[in-house]
Amino acid sequence: MNLPVGIQATFPNVTVVQHPLLRVKLTRLRDKHTKSEDFRRLLSEIATLMVYEAARDFATTPVTVETPLASCEGSALQRPVIVAPILRAGLGLVDGMLNVLSEVSVGHIGMYRNEQTLKPESYYFKLPSHLPRAEVLVVDPMLATGWSATAAISQLKQSGAQHIRFLCVVSSPQGLKQITDAHPEVPIFTATIDEGLNEKGYIVPGLGDAGDRYFGTFAWE
Ligand code: URA
Repeated sequence: MNLPVGIQATFPNVTVVQHPLLRVKLTRLRDKHTKSEDFRRLLSEIATLMVYEAARDFATTPVTVETPLASCEGSALQRPVIVAPILRAGLGLVDGMLNVLSEVSVGHIGMYRNEQTLKPESYYFKLPSHLPRAEVLVVDPMLATGWSATAAISQLKQSGAQHIRFLCVVSSPQGLKQITDAHPEVPIFTATIDEGLNEKGYIVPGLGDAGDRYFGTFAWE
């Protein structure tokens, strides 16, 4: 979608992925009455819809295949693809992306918040050795403060990643600014930019805690 001029000028690297099906699914994802079972399915379907846009300009190489009738020119992806979820909520996007990215590796990035410094620190980082030549899709459903995403991207760069994109479902202006200031060349794909953050760092209106809703780790009534 073309963002309003002011926002697009501030965030030239941000694409708000627009599709009626995506908007409908996002509305149901936000609904507090949506149960974990449906939340999981909706998040996965949203990931499938969003990956089309995030991969739109992946470089391809011409290849030839033999159909049962003749030779035919086609395309292969030039670079291997790595999906790198930020634990734990990022895991909720992986299945939906693997539906369409058939030859893909999944890396894992674990971050926790250091309660002294309030900064994210890495507790797990497992990426395949072809990281430097891969298209890396870092994924997290919620981009709130942006600190974890920024730290994850920094860690990927330190490990040699050269082609990084970030995909989230709900973002805040603060989170977009945080990533954009630190990594201006990284394209960001989001389904919506919400109003902002509350005092606890939750996105408003958002959808609550994506990890808790996906994994069912909230207090059951
Ligand atoms: N993480 C979430 O799951 N939800 C928010 O609103 C912010 C961070």
